[in-house]
Amino acid sequence: VGGKVTLDQIDGLSKTSYPLCMRQLHTAMKENHHLKHFGRLQYGLFIKGIGLSLEEALIFWRSEFTKLMDVDKFDKQYAYNIRHSYGKEGKRQDYTPYSCMKIIMSNPPGPGDHHGCPFRHTDADLLRQRLAAYRIPKKGIDEIMEFVKESHYQLACTRYFELTHGVTASSAINHPNQYFDESRQVLQ
Ligand code: SF4
Repeated sequence: VGGKVTLDQIDGLSKTSYPLCMRQLHTAMKENHHLKHFGRLQYGLFIKGIGLSLEEALIFWRSEFTKLMDVDKFDKQYAYNIRHSYGKEGKRQDYTPYSCMKIIMSNPPGPGDHHGCPFRHTDADLLRQRLAAYRIPKKGIDEIMEFVKESHYQLACTRYFELTHGVTASSAINHPNQYFDESRQVLQ
């Protein structure tokens, strides 16, 4: 995983090449100018994985968060963790982006959270509405929801990929960054 994604591309990419979980986090961030802890982790590691530099990641989080808090508070409370996730603080570990399994199996979202896997964690009616809003045809939504009903969340995601990209997937989606990379390959 890795590339040369820049900050000015993020908004557009969130609509074309992000899996549903990351689009949800990006949208929530834009709407609320904030994300809670696990959302920051899940999304922060993803954008690191698509190749956003630490400098640009800091600008991204700071520009949103400081719409609701002053820069000082952001720098004290949040900047450290962002640098940390890039391995620049603490033990200098290089944290890797979360896989679908990890997102599906751990830390289920509570009220006010936007992390998790929408195929696993979003109420079925709401999920249907969102898919319709993203212009998935009714037949496609039914196919996706059939996978969801059988707890095949990653297959639901793979079908979503196929329907939004007009291709047959070569393999099932098992990582949000894999989804992104494959989308970029198809759309480029
Ligand atoms: Fe994200 Fe994976 Fe769920 Fe797809 S299956 S929405 S990539 S966590």
